[in-house]
Amino acid sequence: MASATKGTDPSVRVRFCPSPTGNPHVGLVRTALFNWAFARHHGGTLVLRIEDTDAARDSEESYEQLLDAMRWLGLDWDEGPEVGGPHEPYRQSRRMEVYADVARRLQEAGHAYECYCTAEELEERREAARKAGKPSGYDGKCRTLTAEQIEAYRAEGRSAIVRFRMPDRPITFTDLVRGEITYQPENVSDYGIVRANGAPLYTLVNPVDDALMEITHVLRGEDLLSSTPRQIALYAALAEIGVGNGSTPSFGHLPYVMGEGNKKLSKRDPQSSLNLYRERGFLPEGLLNYLSLLGWSISEDRDIFSLQEMVDAFEIGDVNANPARFDLKKCEAINATHLRQMEVKDFIAACEPWLRAPYAPWAPEAFDRAAFDAIAPHAQTRLTVLSEITDNVDFLFLDEPVADEASWNKAMKPGADALLRTARAKLAEADWSSAEALKEAVLAAGEEHGLKLGKAQAPVRVAVTGRTVGLPLFESLEVLGRERTLARVDAALAKLAG
Ligand code: GLU
Ligand code: ZN
Repeated sequence: MASATKGTDPSVRVRFCPSPTGNPHVGLVRTALFNWAFARHHGGTLVLRIEDTDAARDSEESYEQLLDAMRWLGLDWDEGPEVGGPHEPYRQSRRMEVYADVARRLQEAGHAYECYCTAEELEERREAARKAGKPSGYDGKCRTLTAEQIEAYRAEGRSAIVRFRMPDRPITFTDLVRGEITYQPENVSDYGIVRANGAPLYTLVNPVDDALMEITHVLRGEDLLSSTPRQIALYAALAEIGVGNGSTPSFGHLPYVMGEGNKKLSKRDPQSSLNLYRERGFLPEGLLNYLSLLGWSISEDRDIFSLQEMVDAFEIGDVNANPARFDLKKCEAINATHLRQMEVKDFIAACEPWLRAPYAPWAPEAFDRAAFDAIAPHAQTRLTVLSEITDNVDFLFLDEPVADEASWNKAMKPGADALLRTARAKLAEADWSSAEALKEAVLAAGEEHGLKLGKAQAPVRVAVTGRTVGLPLFESLEVLGRERTLARVDAALAKLAG
């Protein structure tokens, strides 16, 4: 895969580490894009790591979809599934011994301990703390259990989770997007890293792998900001027990993406599903251009650019901490601009999937390559997304235009038959080698009936294409040809005559 590059700071190592649950969504793509652009800008390394430690929620199907989405978008990775790398395997489900070993060593070194509190006990104490106006995180009850207490808990049949022991001091870090942030110890309590059944949690496996994979910069969504002080403390402990190279990555938290009604865009929001954009025929470049604007901008007066231009300009320090609003209309407008900027031949090639089943309603043998190539440039300047091509050209390949009641009723007002008869006569006489001549014919017909061109062409358009809106009419007629055009006008007249 050819990849955009710019600078040379090969020590930069970032990761995109999705969990394979559900369908890829635009928030996830934005995170992937920013990490990719950052890696390419610096000439560093993008690691793709699959965080599939939650067997109940992860699926192979979702994993395949993630890789497929990355490939479709053109966001290539340097280490990870399928390409390999020095830190294999890159799927966390295949690294379980690593995590078990680290958890054990953290406990041995006193950085983690067994907690035997039951869910009910924890809830009860949390509630009491809340009532007393105290911080409601874990209260540290099991920090100093004696061997006898542990024995007694086990005799009761209790099982333990493993908790990480947070240091009793403030944690300060400089977020690459937000600047300096400090967390006070009373607000960051000891947290679980291994479940009672022995399964390691995200809180452990994510920083452990970042350490082992020598990640230098963590760029991720703002929703994960509160886990950062915990992870920074864990890094220090990992360094102490010799896991990783001892350094802590820099963190940059990308702003929230807001959807309708100023609510956070959720995975469940239909407009957040990447598949929807693929099915509607967004160009990867168009969609990524738009998603790059969710928290970043190339300059104040410019919102259309290529991926290479983004790579060249992308500085994480330019990312804005304020929530970004997802604006579908703008996303579509940017895609439309990218469509218009394509070479015609590339546009034609990109339309291909929508000229076949299941999208195209015509018989495969009815498709006429020359006719399509002739009309394509007119479509290219009008489409928002590629899937719109089908309805715009179906009049060329269907035996009869689509039957659209609403369009028919709108265009075929009283008097439409008289206009159509005159237009038919003039079109029959016209020079069919020029769209301009066909326009003159319909214009002249309109004049005879006291109609401007717009009004006069409406019944002709519906007679020929079935719809009130579509590609430029006279170019459409020219491509459809004299015989078929006249036959369709005749058919419409017959229908009007009842
Ligand atoms: N697997 C985590 C998620 O998808 C990754 C979070 C992170 O980037 O640290 O939320
Ligand atoms: Zn406990």
